Amino acid sequence: MASTLADRLSRLVKTMRGQARITEDNVQEMLREVRMALLEADVALPVVRDFIQRVKDKALGQEVVGSLTPGQALVGLVHKELAATMGEGVADLNLATQPPAVILMAGLQGAGKTTTTAKLAKHLIEKRKKKVLTVSGDVYRPAAIEQLKTVTAQAGAEWFPSTPDQKPLDIARAAIDHARRHYFDVLLVDTAGRLAIDEVLMAEIQALHAELKPVETLFVVDAMQGQDAINTAKAFKAALPLTGVVLTKLDGDSRGGAALSVRAITGVPIKFAGVSEKIDGLEAFDGERHAGRVLGMGDIVALVEEVTKSVDLDSAKQLADKLKAGDAFTLDDFLMQLSQMQKMGGLSSLMDKLPAQLAAKAGADQMDRAERDMRRMRGIIHSMTPLERRKPELIKATRKKRIAGGAGVHVQEVNRLLNQFEQMRDMMKKMRGGGLMKMMKRMGG
Ligand code: GDP
Repeated sequence: MASTLADRLSRLVKTMRGQARITEDNVQEMLREVRMALLEADVALPVVRDFIQRVKDKALGQEVVGSLTPGQALVGLVHKELAATMGEGVADLNLATQPPAVILMAGLQGAGKTTTTAKLAKHLIEKRKKKVLTVSGDVYRPAAIEQLKTVTAQAGAEWFPSTPDQKPLDIARAAIDHARRHYFDVLLVDTAGRLAIDEVLMAEIQALHAELKPVETLFVVDAMQGQDAINTAKAFKAALPLTGVVLTKLDGDSRGGAALSVRAITGVPIKFAGVSEKIDGLEAFDGERHAGRVLGMGDIVALVEEVTKSVDLDSAKQLADKLKAGDAFTLDDFLMQLSQMQKMGGLSSLMDKLPAQLAAKAGADQMDRAERDMRRMRGIIHSMTPLERRKPELIKATRKKRIAGGAGVHVQEVNRLLNQFEQMRDMMKKMRGGGLMKMMKRMGG
C-alpha cells in the first residue's frame, strides 16, 4: 500500500520548518499530497478538484498558530473541511410524521439494503422504542424476500409477507394498510436492486415512492464501490428525492472516500455506517472521525489539536523571559516543563493518536517507561520544600534521604533527577532563554 498522507506530509513538513504562514508556494506541494491521498481513498476526481480548491481558498495567507508548522496547520484545515463536507454532527432518522413513518430503502443489489433494513429495525426498536414492520418489494428474487424474513426476526421486528407473483405497488399498499391497522410506528420497505442501474427498476422505485410517500428515502451504498459510487449516487439522486445515505461495509479495506463523493453528489447527510455483517453492525455516521480515515492518518489531527490546546505557550514565554533576565533555572521551572509534557496527554496517549506505523517505530514499551519516569520525577520534586526547589545545591545527603522517603523512591533516583536538572540548567544557560521557545516549537513539530 502507498504511504499515508501523514508520512508524506511529515516529510514535507520537515523541509518547511520555520515558515510562519501558508503561502502560494508551500501550499501547492502540500495540496498535491492531499489530492493524492484523496484519490487513493477513492474519492471521485471532480469531487477532489472542488475540495482542493475550497481548501486552498481558505488556507492562503492563514497565520499558523502556536507551535504548529504550516504542514500541520494545513492538515488541520483539510481535516476540518473534510469533516464539514461529510456532515458535522449526527443525523438520526426523521420519524416526524403521522405513523406509520415509511422508510424506503434504495440502492444497487448487494449494497446491503436488506441487511441495513434489519439493522435499522433493531436500532428503531432498541434506541427509539418503536414498533417496526418490514416488507420486501424485491419480487425478482424469492431468496431476497426470505432473507428479509430471517433478518427481521433477528432484529425482533415484524415481517409482512410478500411473494414473487405480486406487484411491488400492491405489496406496498397492503403493507402500509397492515401497518396502519396494527399501529406500527415505522414501516421499512426493502426494494429490488440491480447490478447495473436500470431504467425499469428506477421507474418502479419512483412509483413506490409516490405511493408510499416515505418520510425517509435512504440511499444505501457500498463503501467498497469507490469511484463507481459517484455514478450510482447520480442515478439515484436523479430518480428520487433522497433524504439520507447509509454507507455500508466500512469495516472493509476501503479508505471510505466514497463518503465524500456520495455526500457531494446527493447533498443529503450520511446518517449511518455499516460496520459488520452482523445485525448490530450499524453506527451513527461521524464525519469528523471518518475524515481521519479518508486522509489515512489515524488521529494525527487530534494530536495536532491537543498540542495547540495544551502546550501553554504563555508560561513557556514567561520562563524564556525570566532566563533572559538572568534568573536561574530552578527545580520549579523544571517541574513546570514536566507538567507541560504531561498536559499534552502523557507520552503514551500521544502515541496512541499517531498513525500505527509511526507509533510502532517509537515502541510502546519505551513510551510507557518514559511516562513512568516522568511521574516519578514529579513525585520527587513534590517531596522537596520550596526552598530546596529554588536552591537545589542545598540538597545534601540527609535531605536526599528525606525526599526519597517522601516520594517512595531510592536515593539514587533523587541523584539522577538532580543530575538531569543540572544538565538542563546548563543547556538553558547556553541557550540564554531564546532557545526555549524553539524547543517547545520543535515538540509541536
Ligand atoms: P442487498 O442486495 O442490497 O439487499 O444487500 P444485502 O443486504 O443482501 O448484503 C449483501 C452482502 O453484503 C451480504 O453478504 C451482507 O452480509 C453484506 N453486508 C451488508 N452490510 C455490510 C456491512 O456493513 N459490513 C459487511 N462486512 N458486510 C455487509
